[in-house]
Amino acid sequence: MTSAPAAAPIARRLEGAPFAGEIRDRVAGEVRAHVRVRGHPPGLAVVVCGRSAPSMVYLERILKACAQVGIEGSFVDVPGIGAADQEAKLTQAIHALNDDPRVNGIIVQMPLPDGVQLKTVVDAIDPLKDIDGIHPLNAGLLRLGYEGFIPATAHAALEMIHRSGVELVGANAVVVGRSPVVGMPLAFMLTKEDATVTVCHSKTRDLGAEVRRADVLVVAAGKPGLVTGAMLKPGVVVIDVGINVVDGRIVGDVDFDSAEKVASAITPVPGGVGPLTNALLLSHLMRAAQRQDQAKEHFEA
Ligand code: NAD
Repeated sequence: MTSAPAAAPIARRLEGAPFAGEIRDRVAGEVRAHVRVRGHPPGLAVVVCGRSAPSMVYLERILKACAQVGIEGSFVDVPGIGAADQEAKLTQAIHALNDDPRVNGIIVQMPLPDGVQLKTVVDAIDPLKDIDGIHPLNAGLLRLGYEGFIPATAHAALEMIHRSGVELVGANAVVVGRSPVVGMPLAFMLTKEDATVTVCHSKTRDLGAEVRRADVLVVAAGKPGLVTGAMLKPGVVVIDVGINVVDGRIVGDVDFDSAEKVASAITPVPGGVGPLTNALLLSHLMRAAQRQDQAKEHFEA
């Protein structure tokens, strides 16, 4: 008698929602404590430059997440795409938020409109209110391994890796993508945790060969189907950060169906890194509020 062929192993799905729920519960407790002490909720402001459909969806999600935990979410609309003075208006809006004691964290909706310099806008944000870690001071602190604010998406990807239970010390970690908000911060964080890190990008000669060495793989390229199961080492932990719309469906950068047959754990898209990103932004906001209090005490002492 011949036995049936063994079924291909299926990876554990690393869902973001349960972890995001835990974080929101913790943040809600911190918000209540904040309100007891100061008499008002902490505030998060989103600066939106032009009301495009994706930016409004993002905004709605953030404001809803704020409302769920009692944070006062607000947005500042800087209209006039193409207007010559838009950069000045944007920096003015950011300076006003920097000076507003009821605003503890500022997010600027990306991408910026054509003609607006990213550096000018990013430099305008008070580093103590830069809860998505885009100011050069926070990027530098991360690079040196000191505590600052880290981009929420990179933070979410790292938390997913921790949740997978994989041992990072000495592991081969491969990061596909080198953007300042995802790929590079992750590469620094994984290096700090003693992984051996390879960063791949659009000019990498043989992506397949690099990916195949990974014990931990993070893909943040914005290219649907860039990584397939055939490229993976069996047992790898796969974190898919990509968000792409294909035929009206949201998909990641990893071909999920083939990858889950090879990986030991994998984040789905949607439902993996995404839900965690927003929850972590809220927790960054509470850290910002605490740091602003500490800075105030320091200067008043
Ligand atoms: P980006 O466009 O700034 O950077 C993409 C990176 O991928 C670049 O470094 C580029 O060199 C690299 N790349 C492009 N093509 C490649 C290829 N063929 N091979 C290897 N590398 C390649 O994008 P980003 O802002 O870092 O975002 C990456 C993805 O993550 C996007 O799909 C974006 O929508 C998604 N994203 C998700 C979240 C979330 O919360 N889950 C948040 C932010 C961004």
